[in-house]
Amino acid sequence: MSEVRASEEPTPTDSNHDRAEPHDANVGSRLNWLRAGVLGANDGIVSTAGVVVGVAGATADKGAIVLAGIAALSAGAMSMAAGEYVSVSTQRDSERALIELETRELREDPEGELEELTQIYEAKGMRRELAEEVAGELTAHDALAAHAEAELGIDPNDLTNPWHAAGASMLAFVVGAILPMLTITFSPATYRIHVTVLSVAAALALTGWASARLGRSPATRAVLRNVGGGLLAMGVTYAIGALVGVNLG
Ligand SMILES: [Zn+2]
Repeated sequence: MSEVRASEEPTPTDSNHDRAEPHDANVGSRLNWLRAGVLGANDGIVSTAGVVVGVAGATADKGAIVLAGIAALSAGAMSMAAGEYVSVSTQRDSERALIELETRELREDPEGELEELTQIYEAKGMRRELAEEVAGELTAHDALAAHAEAELGIDPNDLTNPWHAAGASMLAFVVGAILPMLTITFSPATYRIHVTVLSVAAALALTGWASARLGRSPATRAVLRNVGGGLLAMGVTYAIGALVGVNLG
């Protein structure tokens, strides 16, 4: 039984490797985790700042502002964790299904599978004899790992744990959310919005810069976009808060 020729498509690992200079899968995956962490923190900063500045636009009541901020922080953290859990679980389910399929094919048609692996290495540019040798040795060592890596771009012994991913995004979000919570809570009432907007802009410049560096893209544009997006978010929620505050008050 012949299987889907996934070999002709670039695998996800290939595209990761273009970007991350170090040709080491662990470095690539650590970079991905780091980048996800920076993005999570960025989310925490923007959404919590939006809520506290929005409520501060409606009322000077510090208790109400802090309460809204805590609610925003908790809801955001839960939402990040749940979203990440669902998405990583779904991905892991489909990776497991693919690995199961591969396992069955290796059991039912080991020769066909060896030929398939050989052709994958030929297609990558190896001479037929060398491709045969490589495929043969990899198959003798760990046939399933060789097929999973070459055809699917996954490591069957290192699938992402959804609980870890959920915990990490929740933590990253909370770390980001703490900043606007602190500034809105501890700044003098007259300046609490100014201090929050300024420190949020500075923090977003930092996360924008960090994610650009991690992704090896130009930093200036990323910083401007990130700070601009955050300022826009706070401006919009402040305007809505002020409008609603006037009409309710
Ligand atoms: Zn295969």
